[in-house]
Amino acid sequence: MADFLTGTTRGGQSWTPKFVETIDQKQCIGCGRCFKVCGRGVLNMIGLTEDGDIVDAFDDEAEKKVMTVETAANCIGCESCSKVCSKSCITHVPVAA
Ligand code: SF4
Ligand code: SF4
Repeated sequence: MADFLTGTTRGGQSWTPKFVETIDQKQCIGCGRCFKVCGRGVLNMIGLTEDGDIVDAFDDEAEKKVMTVETAANCIGCESCSKVCSKSCITHVPVAA
């Protein structure tokens, strides 16, 4: 069995962070709740055009706003983003130690 990177709670208990991996942009409604709850600047809102091209979230061409993983390396694996997502868009993984 693989050894995963673990942390320790203040009380000394071990826990395994589950880092953000993907966001299902087909399910995402662009509500921004995950963006607001993440204190690590990992996520960002983008716009998608009718043809699926990525544009600025506030571009006139944007037909839909969705969340994206912009800076995965900043994630601490707290899973708060998933807890506030009503559409179950976000997947997480532990990483090998
Ligand atoms: S798991 Fe935590 S740190 Fe990582 S993207 Fe979600 S809210 Fe941010
Ligand atoms: S909370 Fe879920 S539905 Fe809302 S923007 Fe984030 S990933 Fe999309």
